[in-house]
Amino acid sequence: MPKIRKLEPNVVDQIAAGEVVDRPASVLKELLENAIDSGATKITVKVVEAGIKKIEVQDNGCGIEKEDLEIALDSHTTSKIETIEDLANVMTLGFRGEALSSIASVAVVTIQSMPSAALENHVANEIVASDGKTSKVSATTRDIGTTVRVENLFYNVPARHKFLKTPKTEYTKLLEVFIPIVIINPQIHFVMESDGKVVYNLPLVEKSERGMIHPQRLTQILKKYQFVNLFYDGDGVTVGGVVAHPKHHAAKVGNQYVFVNGRAIWDNGIAKAVTLGANRFIPDGHKVPFAVAINIAQDQVDVNVHPRKAEVRFANPYRVYSAVENAVKKAYESTLQMNESDKEFSRFRTSANSVDSTPSFVSSPREQQNFGQNKRYGVEQSLRFSRMLLADSGKDISDEQPVQHLNYANDREISARQFLGRYIIASFGEKLLIVDQHAAAERIRFEKLLDQYAGRGIEIQQILAPISVELDKSHMAFLEENQEIMKNLGYDFKLIGDNVEIIGVPSIIAQADHGKLFEELIEEIKDLGEISDAEGHLKDKYRDSIIATLACHSSVRMNQRVSDIEAASLVRELMKCRNSYSCPHGRPVMWELTKREIDVHFDRPL
Ligand code: ADP
Ligand code: MG
Repeated sequence: MPKIRKLEPNVVDQIAAGEVVDRPASVLKELLENAIDSGATKITVKVVEAGIKKIEVQDNGCGIEKEDLEIALDSHTTSKIETIEDLANVMTLGFRGEALSSIASVAVVTIQSMPSAALENHVANEIVASDGKTSKVSATTRDIGTTVRVENLFYNVPARHKFLKTPKTEYTKLLEVFIPIVIINPQIHFVMESDGKVVYNLPLVEKSERGMIHPQRLTQILKKYQFVNLFYDGDGVTVGGVVAHPKHHAAKVGNQYVFVNGRAIWDNGIAKAVTLGANRFIPDGHKVPFAVAINIAQDQVDVNVHPRKAEVRFANPYRVYSAVENAVKKAYESTLQMNESDKEFSRFRTSANSVDSTPSFVSSPREQQNFGQNKRYGVEQSLRFSRMLLADSGKDISDEQPVQHLNYANDREISARQFLGRYIIASFGEKLLIVDQHAAAERIRFEKLLDQYAGRGIEIQQILAPISVELDKSHMAFLEENQEIMKNLGYDFKLIGDNVEIIGVPSIIAQADHGKLFEELIEEIKDLGEISDAEGHLKDKYRDSIIATLACHSSVRMNQRVSDIEAASLVRELMKCRNSYSCPHGRPVMWELTKREIDVHFDRPL
């Protein structure tokens, strides 16, 4: 790595300095990026109390020479760029030269480093900074590489220290930084220790490099998903990575990762593009997990827009979005078309040693041949998949849908019959109703659950065979702290290691796929912040949407037969609802034709 030099003041001004450090996770991000930039092949992270007490990152990279170590903790010292023009071509993750100095101003920082043999002065040195003062460099011993230890974060900034959340929450944030970096750097062996326990030990993937989304690395951390490979190359944009099989769809999903030129970022447009590309295979409004790696010319993307580089700006965002959308669509289509059944979806084996070693974004030759060609989608295949995957396929949600309280005062005779396997045609007084049976069932369950929640609590039904769910570490950390919220939502469960054993479920929706639903709920709740009171009762503004998730996540199958009597009773229950016009997510529930409308249509006197 080149020598560290002080940036010219004008360059300093041109780089808008931002807040680099706001919590342990942002410290971890900076230290990991420095370690990656150093060319390390093994990085060990040790945190104590979720990094609030200590974050230590050890690497076996190029190391820092003595004279550089002396100034590494000064502000605006970097070895990575020199002029503002260099910004257009940064290949390293860091370049502002402000991370170490910012961290040293709010914590006790110790750096030990041994420069690689290629560098002069091949001796190990140590430097300590605390209270704005830097110690003299002193000799020490260690292997080639660098260890940066950050202790007692914000010890001298009480306001900041107070702002830190509980260790559980901070730990979740640490993982949110760690996991994407691990995914996009398969060439590095990562170890993570928390409070003395090894939580991750992920050997490097042979012949891999930074920027690759490699199946072998993915299987180390996202075991539970079946993935489909992405591949797109055109218009100067390459898209690689994976998207989860459509069966993993949910209204809220975690594990969505975006990378641009080897850098973990977030971009809503890209997430939307994935959903658009998947739209024929998953229900409206639902999403799937993905890890998308975009490679694009350096001058087509600005990584300098965000102080923590969490977002980037594309010169031509729509070109990138359409590349992503295309990649997802083609990946689903060609995989479905090539294979007779979904079980042949490219599946990542769960054992790390038996994994295919080709990088996942290089698709099979057959798949590649299909790219660019607008192949017609097999109608049979499409129908089969729609049946299997789409729980519902209603029209777009119309915001103008009037929300009314229907008062069909006396429960007069309703005659009803199922139609096309999914609707109910009912006549009722002087009205003709066409009801979407699935949306109606959701609306009814939603209001019942709401009433129970507001009253004596959601009724729990114990189940005979407990359901075991393996949660992500971040989900588990959240759950441990917020068990009451889930109990109030009608779940009875035990926590056993990283697993949850569900032993009771909300009785109104006893038939649902609770393994999936439980996880989806946590995913939805996790990032909302303070959503409940001390007893875990949801605050009003969150209650409806969370209970809607419960109500809508049912396993109603398409073409479920409904007898005339059941149809009539469904319509009757719907009439009792406070709002019988739309399902909790806003989808229309029924289409009402009044006598007047019918008469007008037939040109009959009113
Ligand atoms: P930046 O990464 O933006 O250059 P930092 O403040 O993060 O700025 O780091 C300052 C300099 O210290 C880097 O440019 C690099 O030369 C050196 N450095 C920091 N961490 C390491 C490391 N783990 N290995 C080698 N050099 C490092
Ligand atoms: Mg840096």
